[in-house]
Amino acid sequence: MASSPGTSENPLRVAIVGSGPSGFYTAGHLLKAKDLEVSVDLYDRLPTPFGLVRAGVAPDHPKIKSVTRVSEKTAAGEGFRFFGNVNVGEHITHHELKERYHAVIYAVGAETDRQMDIPGEDLPGSWAATQLVGWYNGHPDYRDLEFDLSCKRAVVIGNGNVAMDVARMLVLPRSELDTTDTADHAIEAFASCEIEEVVILGRRGPAQAAFTNPELLELGELTDADVVVDPADMNIDHNSLQDIEAEGQLTARKNVEILTAYSQRESTGKSKRVVLRFLRSPVAIRGDGKVESIDLVRNELDHGSDGALRAKATDDHETVEAGIVFRSIGYRGVPVDGVPFDEWKGTIPNEQGRVVDPHAQHAIPGEYVVGWIKRGPSGVIGTNKRDAQETVDNLIQDLHEGRLEEPSSGGAPDEVESLLSERAPDHVTYAGWELIDAAEKAAGEPQGRPRVKFTRVEEMLDAAKTSV
Ligand code: NAP
Repeated sequence: MASSPGTSENPLRVAIVGSGPSGFYTAGHLLKAKDLEVSVDLYDRLPTPFGLVRAGVAPDHPKIKSVTRVSEKTAAGEGFRFFGNVNVGEHITHHELKERYHAVIYAVGAETDRQMDIPGEDLPGSWAATQLVGWYNGHPDYRDLEFDLSCKRAVVIGNGNVAMDVARMLVLPRSELDTTDTADHAIEAFASCEIEEVVILGRRGPAQAAFTNPELLELGELTDADVVVDPADMNIDHNSLQDIEAEGQLTARKNVEILTAYSQRESTGKSKRVVLRFLRSPVAIRGDGKVESIDLVRNELDHGSDGALRAKATDDHETVEAGIVFRSIGYRGVPVDGVPFDEWKGTIPNEQGRVVDPHAQHAIPGEYVVGWIKRGPSGVIGTNKRDAQETVDNLIQDLHEGRLEEPSSGGAPDEVESLLSERAPDHVTYAGWELIDAAEKAAGEPQGRPRVKFTRVEEMLDAAKTSV
């Protein structure tokens, strides 16, 4: 019989699916666990690691991307392996992972976007913001999308940080993109972008906006665009004022201060404008074969049953001409084959990271979640650090209390490698990623850019095989 998992004879074998921030923080916490021998295999469907740090964070925010240094340290540690270009569900199933590891942790994020369910949402020119984000960041799934940026006005629906990123990227001058790792195809397309005005719509008021202060401040410092807020939108209702005065509402209070200052600004005559409008919801997107305008309704705020202030439509309608619309109303998780899924929340049902069988209402031994697929798409990158710690603590508790089963296949590390060599012969190890990384950085160096990204899987695989 095998000795209890976590010893040098029988290391605790963990598969983590998804190599974004939550997957890497989880790997780091596990490998640092006291008095425990752990081996971690980190899977990703792309040949490249780091998830939204590579494919989500805006290219003009390079400092945020430096979090990958922590991941690089984790990857250099004993007991870590990366299997990129392996699609769990296709090359290896959930069931097969469970046969090979003491625990399987899903860190798959929230891969799709939320829908508004309004007429015209599917017209050409109506996009999910996440599509534009994936495209300008060179994600292979999005690199061939074609955005028609030849119109004068774009509308971005939603008041989160993704809406801020999208609005900013649409108006940045080429000189500011040229020094970033924005995908080459996007730099070219943005350079001929004719958009002069980006309207950002919040369905609630300035006090309820989900964006954070630094992102809002950045809008006020754009080289080519004035930021515009209608002073009438800053007549904040009594309930909202009370809310933002409460303890813990510093971000909202400061957002209102910044927006008030913006509403008092005179135009400086820059060639572009970013207009923040509040208490407006889209009710229909219109156009003959493509987006031409968007119908909006003015909202009022009303206390919902949970006490929160909600948007309630009035009879006041208007139409705004626009050639392109981005809905930026949040990401949504997608189901993993063989694992329970909460359709309503778009997450895997769990209790503090332990996957729960929704019918039997108990934790399923050896199955865990971290990050957005655990808690929904909220928080900044750092939020995933303590989120991952909670899951890892519970996994270790389960180990100590005998709730983890021995892998039925024995779980020998080389057995996994030979299975993957058969099923996914083009899988990329961490050494392969380092070659891709080095090639991208080398291509960026002469241009004064952090890297020039490969945007096709085949190019990545070629680079991963090139010996230096
Ligand atoms: P988010 O922060 O959840 O914002 C979603 C926005 O969409 C909210 O303003 C929400 O309004 C609005 N919304 C939802 N349903 C709507 C509807 N049917 N009609 C109109 N508006 C609707 O989501 P996100 O912007 O996708 O960002 C996801 C997470 O990533 C956030 O935690 C964000 O902070 C983080 N992130 C951070 C950075 C950064 O740190 N720089 C950059 C990008 C993303 P209500 O409040 O009324 O629901």
